[in-house]
Amino acid sequence: MVLRFFSLSISSSKSKRLTTNNYFFTTTTTTPPFKFLLRYLSTAAQLPLQSQSNNNFNSTPSIVPLTRSLLSPRPCPCPFLPLNNNTTFGSLRPTSRCFTTTDQSHHRDSINYDVVIVGAGPAGLSAAIRLKQLCRQNDVDLSVCVVEKGAQLGAHIISGNVFEPRALDELLPQWKQEEVPISVPVSSDKFWLLTRDRAFSLPSPFDNKGNYVISLSQLVRWLGIKAEELGVEIYPGFAASEILYDSNRKVVGIATNDMGVAKDGSKRETFQRGVELKGRITLLAEGCRGSLSQKIMGDYNLREKVQAQHQTYALGIKEVWEIDESKHTPGSVLHTIGWPLDHKTYGGSFLYHMKDRQVSVGLVVALDYHNPYLNPYEEFQKLKHHPAIKRLLEGGTVIQYGARTLNEGGLQSIPYPVFPGGALIGCSAGFLNVPKIKGTHTAMKSGMLAAEATYGALHEGTSMEIYWEKLNKSWIWDELYRARNFRPPISDWMDGVDTSDR
Ligand SMILES: Cc1cc2nc3c(=O)[nH]c(=O)nc-3n(C[C@H](O)[C@H](O)[C@H](O)COP(=O)(O)OP(=O)(O)OC[C@H]3O[C@@H](n4cnc5c(N)ncnc54)[C@H](O)[C@@H]3O)c2cc1C
Repeated sequence: MVLRFFSLSISSSKSKRLTTNNYFFTTTTTTPPFKFLLRYLSTAAQLPLQSQSNNNFNSTPSIVPLTRSLLSPRPCPCPFLPLNNNTTFGSLRPTSRCFTTTDQSHHRDSINYDVVIVGAGPAGLSAAIRLKQLCRQNDVDLSVCVVEKGAQLGAHIISGNVFEPRALDELLPQWKQEEVPISVPVSSDKFWLLTRDRAFSLPSPFDNKGNYVISLSQLVRWLGIKAEELGVEIYPGFAASEILYDSNRKVVGIATNDMGVAKDGSKRETFQRGVELKGRITLLAEGCRGSLSQKIMGDYNLREKVQAQHQTYALGIKEVWEIDESKHTPGSVLHTIGWPLDHKTYGGSFLYHMKDRQVSVGLVVALDYHNPYLNPYEEFQKLKHHPAIKRLLEGGTVIQYGARTLNEGGLQSIPYPVFPGGALIGCSAGFLNVPKIKGTHTAMKSGMLAAEATYGALHEGTSMEIYWEKLNKSWIWDELYRARNFRPPISDWMDGVDTSDR
């Protein structure tokens, strides 16, 4: 497996397009596979690596700081599986000692970290950065690894985005002095009620003063660079597909998915087991309805623990358009309600003018819609043909598109976010502020608070439960508490529930 990473790394230096049995993706980073190899080889040989920082996320392979002592690897009872015929790195094959392995039939390599973070979104990367900042401040070294299923950082991020910089101000106060992709302040904030062919302007319920229109994927890439500069190891292109538990049912890390599995589930000749990434603490930052997060919530009854309600969801469909210069107003923000959605469907559209003639246009549809024939994508198509929207998009080109779910449960649906061995952060736990339609700042802040609790747990022997206490005392809670009664009455009204005697 590790050699597989290495061969990918080498081939990618010749061509930026990589193929494996399961993936076909473009990448801008050759660094992570190489770092994986270095960590692997250094652990196998129990050798410390030299520190060297990597300032460019797109740069050639670098060696990451590794001054901590790794948890001692156990001798492995089985030799490595034979390498593929097409692999030319046979001489690198370790035979006498390797990592902890749990599956004897199909060997799975295991790498130990202090902290494993699943998901390189705003929450995961903010947690990684805050942890490393605390390490630097206190002259402590904790190894932090982030796995990301997107082929590159930001590849799976779908968001408007009107960005509230509150958490970033706290995380990296000097951000305005850097080359950060946050350059378009909100210049106007409009709110329209649409009918089939008309648009009525209403007072805007949003307050976007001081906020920015950004590309969240670009911000995530920038946060990735900041994290790498601090020594965080980031591995894009690998999905965490399994949670690892110890004999006391404590979470001890994750495993990445197997490769070379045929459609019918059988193993191809090229089958390779995933890798175990073991962490003393595991932070799940998968975003809305992450598969591992859902499992953890069920396994540890995290909702029941704080009598949280079930989570509710909306689907956000978004396109980025390049439009005519004369129609482009950087920083202009528009939200609409009404048509094309019927009065029993909660949702609305957004249209944000970014820089470089780009606009981000999308429709959010709550998934509790009553009409079983409603197709959110068709509604989005209709929206783009509304006279007031069509006028703007005509002659333009779609350059990106995607869809993603959003949490809509708010404060009432937040589970207890701490479990034995880790915590849920960001939209994995559901910190999106529904009336604001913003979750980036709360995701970042929750990641930072979890990082502080993690640092305390690993270095000062305090409990991870402190994360929950910190959350309750933070501005996230104030925000979500104030927003708590926004969504439920709308649902009741749409369901025809009589709320007059409440
Ligand atoms: C259409 C739309 C518009 C929005 N508009 C705004 C807005 O204007 N302003 C705002 O503040 N917020 C907005 N949001 C919400 C905002 O995008 C989220 O609140 C925020 O991105 C949450 O950050 P996160 O880090 O928790 O999760 P995410 O941003 O979802 O990041 C999770 C990351 O984890 C990765 N991942 C998931 N599972 C795994 C796994 N098993 N293994 C490895 N990697 C994994 C994903 O690929 C992803 O990169 C919007 C959301 C949508 C969908």
